[in-house]
Amino acid sequence: MERIDHVGVFIEVSEEQLRKERNKTRELRKSGWWKQRIAAGKCYYCAGSFSARELTLDHVVPLVRGGRTTRGNCVPACKLCNSKKQDLLPSEWQEYLEHLERQVD
Ligand SMILES: [Zn+2]
Repeated sequence: MERIDHVGVFIEVSEEQLRKERNKTRELRKSGWWKQRIAAGKCYYCAGSFSARELTLDHVVPLVRGGRTTRGNCVPACKLCNSKKQDLLPSEWQEYLEHLERQVD
């Protein structure tokens, strides 16, 4: 049996749902709402300033974990945060965010 993470809720997402959500993501990226968000130039996670081109669309709850492509679940993230998030388990990502918050204080 595959262990997904040690927090432990396994959500089964069908290929079809993933495909639908990815299509929605493409549409959302073209929307005025998204263009405004990246024009603001702020990474949602580290709050760093970036040009619109450096920001990627990140799903707070990843699609493979049952997240949806809604405005509430899509945030601009810099490439560093985005690639870090992908490598980390949810609990490790939480630690990373807490670490960032401590740096701000
Ligand atoms: Zn960032």
